[in-house]
Amino acid sequence: MNFCTLASGSNGNSAVLINEDKHILIDAGYSNRALCTFMSNIGVNHNDVGAVFITHEHSDHIKGLSVFLAKHPQTICFASQMTAYAIGASNPEIAHRIVSFAVGDVIEYSGHKIKTIRTPHDTPESVAYHIEKDNKKILIATDLGYVPDEIEENLDDLDLFMIEANYDEEKLEHGKYPAFLKTRIRGKGGHLSNDASAEIVLKAAECGGKRVLLSHLSQENNTPRLAYNAVHQKLMAGGFIPGVDIDLKVSPRGMCGEVICL
Ligand SMILES: [Zn+2]
Ligand SMILES: [Zn+2]
Repeated sequence: MNFCTLASGSNGNSAVLINEDKHILIDAGYSNRALCTFMSNIGVNHNDVGAVFITHEHSDHIKGLSVFLAKHPQTICFASQMTAYAIGASNPEIAHRIVSFAVGDVIEYSGHKIKTIRTPHDTPESVAYHIEKDNKKILIATDLGYVPDEIEENLDDLDLFMIEANYDEEKLEHGKYPAFLKTRIRGKGGHLSNDASAEIVLKAAECGGKRVLLSHLSQENNTPRLAYNAVHQKLMAGGFIPGVDIDLKVSPRGMCGEVICL
């Protein structure tokens, strides 16, 4: 099982789990054409995508979903009940293609065991995914205002932890966003700051985590360097040397990251 972010950031998100048979997309926040091009760029056949798992209905996660499903009739879509409802309401043509689950359900799909975990965000029912296959474990958690207990309870021995590092506190404070938006981003239904991300990454390292991918960076309120440094510093203070004890990378915006072999 390999993994690659096709794009990650507040303007569009999608990642692919690459398997011998059916690939899995997590979110489809770029146009169908862009998603197919991203996959071709890393040698993945988009016609072999068996399923798309959606985290929530914000457009940076579902922008290309409707057309992708129309062009790929073999692909099923999974979403939580409320997310499925929201997507179906604005895209009635694909409502019948979405398999909904109750948050907390564990989905068995093509050899993967996929645990669904509720995340605090300003949508009715957004989720994180904990994915296990062939004794490898991945946790994907973006778009969360704070780290809930259920995420902390699922940090053991992660081969990959894809975690949001959305904003730098100083940059957000002094940036040009209006006050209401700053409040929304910092709020319990908003996004994780670099410092909050660093705290949970340290806990993942203490639980045996092997690789960390900082993701969903804000274009306006963050830079890859700021996110990396905040987490690097925290890990060092906790006795973990990035690059030696744990791999630490930042997902690029608007383009594919590197393919991670798990
Ligand atoms: Zn988002
Ligand atoms: Zn969101």
